[in-house]
Parts: sequence; C-alpha cells; structure tokens
Amino acid sequence: MAPLTWRHHTLIQALLSRGPLMEEEFHEMFMGISGKNPVNNKQLFNDVLLKINKELAYVQFELRACRNQYDGKVYYGVINNVADEQSKLGTKYSVPQIAFYKGVIEAIIQDAGTEGCVTNIEALNIRLENQVPAGQSSQDSQSRIPPAFRNFTMSQKEKTLNDLIQDRWLSYTSSGKIGLGVRSFLDLRSWFRSNDVPSCNVCNEAGVKASTCPNEGCNIRIHDYCLKQKFSRRKGSRACPGCGAEWPQLECEEEENDANEPEEDPAASPNPTTRRRLRSSVKAEAVEGSKSQGGASTSLSKKRLRSCKNEAVENATQDTSSVCPSQPLRSSNRRKR
Ligand SMILES: [Zn+2]
Ligand SMILES: [Zn+2]
Repeated sequence: MAPLTWRHHTLIQALLSRGPLMEEEFHEMFMGISGKNPVNNKQLFNDVLLKINKELAYVQFELRACRNQYDGKVYYGVINNVADEQSKLGTKYSVPQIAFYKGVIEAIIQDAGTEGCVTNIEALNIRLENQVPAGQSSQDSQSRIPPAFRNFTMSQKEKTLNDLIQDRWLSYTSSGKIGLGVRSFLDLRSWFRSNDVPSCNVCNEAGVKASTCPNEGCNIRIHDYCLKQKFSRRKGSRACPGCGAEWPQLECEEEENDANEPEEDPAASPNPTTRRRLRSSVKAEAVEGSKSQGGASTSLSKKRLRSCKNEAVENATQDTSSVCPSQPLRSSNRRKR
C-alpha cells in the first residue's frame, strides 16, 4: 500500500494537536488540502479516512466521528483504542484523578432521567473509594484503598472537574450541569456497549442524552436530534417504534415549526445569525471556539432562560451552540433504565 502523503499527515496532525474538530471545520480542512468538498465527494473522503485508519491501526489509534449528544453536532477525532484509561489520560492526569473521571462518567450514565448529566454537587460528592477494583481475596476493603484516593480533597475534585471540562472529557450542558465531553463520546463507544447503556432506537449509538418513550412500560430511547429527523417529514404520525404510543413533540421542534417555512430543511438552524456566528467563531480559533461551544446567540437566550431557570444562566452562556436546549421532557424525568 502506498504510504501516507503530507495531506494525510496534515489531517492526523490537526486532530491530534487540536483535539476533536467540528465536522464543518474538518471538512474545510479537507477541502483546503484536497481541493474537493467532502460533501460532494463522499467516496474520496471515506477512502482517505480509511487509508489513514489502516495506518493508525498499527499503533491502535483510530480516526472516528461521533455526535455530541447535547447539541447533535458531529465531531472528528483520533482516539486511542487501548482499553485502559491510564494510557488515554495518564500523561496529564494522576491515578486518583482518573478514578474521579470514571466515577463522574458512571454517575452520568446511571442518570435514569436520560438527561445525561449530573449537578456540580453530585459530581463533587462522588467517592473515589468506590472506584477501587473489587474482588481479590482480602475482606478488609479499607486497606485496599490507596491513601491518594482517601486523601483526595474537595478542591482537588474541583480542579479535576475544571481540567476535564477544559480538555473536553466532560462539558457543561446548557442547563449548567456536568455532562460528557466530546472526547468521551468519541472514546467510550465500546465502554457504553459493555456497560449496557441502552441504545438510541434510530441510530443505535448509546442514548446518554435522549428522550424516553412516554409509555411507562416501554424502554425505547431516541436522541433529540434523531427524533427530529425521524418525525420531521411525517406530520401526524409520531408513534413510538416499540409500543406505538404517541411521542410528545419536543419544545424545540414546536418553536422551529413556528419559525420555519413548512418545506425548509429541518436540519438547518432557524436563525441565520446563529449559523453565521457559529461559523465565524470556528474560523476564529478552533480550540477556543470548541471550548466555549460556539458564539452567543440572542435567539436562544429566551429558550435558555426558560429551560435553565435562574441558577444556570451564567453557565448557559458557555454553551450556546445548542439549537435545542436540553429542556427536559416531562416524561423523561421518570426513573427508567
Ligand atoms: Zn440516535
Ligand atoms: Zn414506546
């Protein structure tokens, strides 16, 4: 097989050094080095990614795409396929910090309301003692807890939370809570499977932040963006694929329907200003832009205020790229696994 060219290396290097990139930005970069728009040249785009992945496989790395489940946007990143947190986070994070990260992820996954987030307080109350591997013959569990775990202070937890959010292993959701970061969405795909996180009925990816069927007895989960896609063209028919119950409309769908012409592309943002601002912030500086999750948008503030109430407004300004703020459906607050 022909070796990789500078074009491949540029793409790999950008993803490695600047972290996961938004689809739009990755496409622009691809267009810049190949002269071809990946949207119209899907085959070429896929061939290039395949070639890159064949080479990366030798060092157990993989270039992959995923959706950020809070805003539905696609990101590209390079992940480490060695199933071991130490090798993923180890160069920057200590063992107790990694244990804390795992504890936060588990708490988010176990959120029965499928909001896919925990509050700051809940995160800080996570006990590292629970992250010590179980088993072994010793009955004295206290003696197995490393001192570094026992002595991990509140302020160390706070600092770790901030670092993990900075590095996009975690994120602030639009409701001001702590959710998964885009790196975790990229990285934890197989972990979600092995931990039995229920999948979205439409796209089959883990339903971390999803809507649940209004029917108590039905366990169907669907991402908000998958729901929109599934039901957008079939007005009137919103039957759950599992039990046939009527699926309630998302608040963001209603508002979009009001704002849009009937036949407009449902994927398009209802507000051109939002798109312009998002795009310019992406161009301005990728890393900064993705940290703050896009620019400010006045059209969203009304919805945001409504969904986040007062306490979260400050945090919500951090994350305004979400066209669909995480307004909890009444049904999704029930405890359901
Ligand atoms: Zn889905
Ligand atoms: Zn159902």
